[in-house]
Amino acid sequence: MTDYDAIIIGGGHNGLVAAAYLAQAGQSVLVLERRDIVGGACVTEELFPGYRVSSCAYICHLLQAKVIDDLRLREHGFAVYQLEPARFQPYPDGNVLVFWDDVDRTVEGMRHLSAHDAAAYPRWLDFWRRAAGLIHPYFLTAPPSLSELVARARRTGDEDVLETLLTRSMADLVQAYFESPWLQGATIQAHDVGDPAAVGSAFCQSYIRCDMYSRPEDCGIVRGGMGTIPQAMLRSAEQSGATVRTGVSVRRVLVEDGAARGVELADGEVIASRVVLSNADPKRTYLRLVGAEHLDGAFRRQVGRLKTRATYLKFHAALRELPDFSRYLGPDFDPRALAYIKICPSADYFAHSWDDALHGRPSRSPVMEVQIPTVYDPTLAPPGQHVMSIWVSYAPVQPRDGTWDTLRRPVGEHLIDTLATYAPNLREAIVDWSLFTPWDLEQRVGLTDGNIRHLDIVPSQFLTQRPLPGYADYRTPIEGLYLCGAGTHPGGEVTGAPGHNAAAVVLRDWAG
Ligand SMILES: Cc1cc2nc3c(=O)[nH]c(=O)nc-3n(C[C@H](O)[C@H](O)[C@H](O)COP(=O)(O)OP(=O)(O)OC[C@H]3O[C@@H](n4cnc5c(N)ncnc54)[C@H](O)[C@@H]3O)c2cc1C
Repeated sequence: MTDYDAIIIGGGHNGLVAAAYLAQAGQSVLVLERRDIVGGACVTEELFPGYRVSSCAYICHLLQAKVIDDLRLREHGFAVYQLEPARFQPYPDGNVLVFWDDVDRTVEGMRHLSAHDAAAYPRWLDFWRRAAGLIHPYFLTAPPSLSELVARARRTGDEDVLETLLTRSMADLVQAYFESPWLQGATIQAHDVGDPAAVGSAFCQSYIRCDMYSRPEDCGIVRGGMGTIPQAMLRSAEQSGATVRTGVSVRRVLVEDGAARGVELADGEVIASRVVLSNADPKRTYLRLVGAEHLDGAFRRQVGRLKTRATYLKFHAALRELPDFSRYLGPDFDPRALAYIKICPSADYFAHSWDDALHGRPSRSPVMEVQIPTVYDPTLAPPGQHVMSIWVSYAPVQPRDGTWDTLRRPVGEHLIDTLATYAPNLREAIVDWSLFTPWDLEQRVGLTDGNIRHLDIVPSQFLTQRPLPGYADYRTPIEGLYLCGAGTHPGGEVTGAPGHNAAAVVLRDWAG
């Protein structure tokens, strides 16, 4: 006897996407979300009375067009503000870079800093377009093996790009293209690899740069905050017949004779199903939700060794006025320039940020991606006021000295001090602020180690290796148990791709 065809543990955006596709295919589906809201790491929350923020994910850039269209997310309320300029980057010496959609305009603004770098910038973009072009075709398919990737690169004439990705680091690349600290600081990035000098940092950056293939009208600040996306997915899934329950935590996956039979909730309720999909991260699923007796010890140890060490901070503030960047933008600047501000003065600054985290220290040179969404979307704050959020790289999972509880305040103060060196009125502008540490992200969202992409996107956990070699197809060692979250191919970020792909595999397995 089963109650549902499919139970989905977790109403993160991927769980909802999987639910919508399965329900569209006529299956009876139940989503169980432990929080009172759906969305997981993609939510809008009122952290301060009257001020709403995208409390985790803040920019929509990789949400797959097919998912948007298949789930009719626009009809269900999804809309974005495209950013123009795309980004503004101030430097301590008073210099500034503004990145526009129009490459010529961006290049024009770079010339006064370095004619060499201005000339190199279009080639840099071209390199990443070719690099992402190798990975992007696999977002909604099975991941390619290395030999398939090589074969594609040969076909598309991008073997040189693939070779560069596999053999050089982001630091190598940034230095090869740019000579000035300003451009190097603006372009350095290593995401979950962390160390920009590590080989693999460029390869994994190609995943994030797949946003060059997203439709422009799908990228930007989401109207109503990122929570609008799962709300639209929820409506789509429910319209197709799925049931979604919030405020219910799954205690364990019920396994009999090596096969998943349903779930038991924290209050003891048992619900039976033909299959179970877990939107929780792989470590949480295998090490907490599936009893140790149902998994091989070696497999569990392999899961325990999965890398979840690249962690970040999320700072939020309610503002009574905009930070004053007139030193950089002139007295009458267009406030929309403040939608996305990046603070990273040099490649060394970035490297120090990772080095601190690696040694258990909150970063003394925090790399900050600052978003003030209210310059586009005034509905998020009281009239004339603003919200500001900062995504900060990097932070240790656990600090070496002290606890996140004791460090939360001084670390938050350091972020404010750092940003105030660029915008002197910042302290007076802040009505209230809060900081999410990796510990807070784990408690709130259920992310193991606060890992924003469930597992680090590093070469050993990318493509056919994600989450584990032999299990990159959403199936698990337990029959009828599937993974459908960011810890699976293609990876984290708000893409909808793992949910889409996992549902397709479930339906294929049912079709026999
Ligand atoms: C601070 C931060 C900043 C980010 N910035 C961006 C960004 O700007 N752009 C972007 O695209 N991405 C960003 N990301 C990454 C992105 O948000 C995530 O990778 C993505 O949302 C993961 O979606 P998911 O559905 O796979 O998993 P999740 O969002 O983690 O959802 C999993 C769900 O499962 C639920 N759950 C877990 N265990 C149980 C249980 N036992 N019972 C019931 N429910 C359970 C959780 O409560 C959660 O709702 C950011 C993430 C964070 C944390």
